[in-house]
Amino acid sequence: MVWSFRNWRRRRIQQHDALPETAWRDEVASLPLLRGLSGDELARLRELVMVFLREKELVAADGYGLSGDMRLKIAAQACLPILNLGLDYYAGWVSVIVYPDEFVPEYEFMDEDGVVHQVREPMIGESWERGPVILSSIDVERSGELDGVNVVIHEFAHKLDMLNGAPDGFPPLHREMDRAAWTQAFSRAFDDFGAKVESGAETVIDPYAAESPAEFFAVMSEAFFEIPHILQREYPEVYRQLAEFYRQDPMARMGEEAGCA
Ligand SMILES: [Zn+2]
Repeated sequence: MVWSFRNWRRRRIQQHDALPETAWRDEVASLPLLRGLSGDELARLRELVMVFLREKELVAADGYGLSGDMRLKIAAQACLPILNLGLDYYAGWVSVIVYPDEFVPEYEFMDEDGVVHQVREPMIGESWERGPVILSSIDVERSGELDGVNVVIHEFAHKLDMLNGAPDGFPPLHREMDRAAWTQAFSRAFDDFGAKVESGAETVIDPYAAESPAEFFAVMSEAFFEIPHILQREYPEVYRQLAEFYRQDPMARMGEEAGCA
């Protein structure tokens, strides 16, 4: 009942809230991230984007105005990872809050010893369990350039990770996937990457990935969509697991030169 109502509503949105063709084409052209998607895939992405913009509430923080371009840029990049999964993967929360630039959240947390810490450091994105996604507009603008850094994909990957509880780098896998293979691929790569960062070696992939398994999954997701050739070269098993999870193969669709910069 609920399911069919929701689908009926989504179909109505697709019919009546058409996204102007020119605005959509301009957005696709401005995002190298979408390179190589077929006509059919782009059409499906556009439908997802329309429903996303209707179902999610994109709001500007600090009274800063949110342009149509910015809304589209967020929606297009947020919907790419769920192109073959569906919008229900972003169920259970509504708001995307956009700051003009880095923001400084202040919050407290208690560690295992019961000591309360105050956190106050600038961030470019944040995801709350069952709460909003928060993004810096400048960093959204910088995303999608195929340099491996994409705050939108990063924060929405956390949302996928949170579908089965606190983020731990283990999103709900599909039935046909092998949990042991996922664990082995990710823990080996996490240990190897952590050792490289520890040793001071330069890494093409953002060293922030070494922070925790949750951050590792989010950063590897950025690399998977932005620099798939590099991820495949560095951690082929992680690439394979992500291809199974996202049901996409960005390396195949982008062609030879992508991600080799
Ligand atoms: Zn993160």
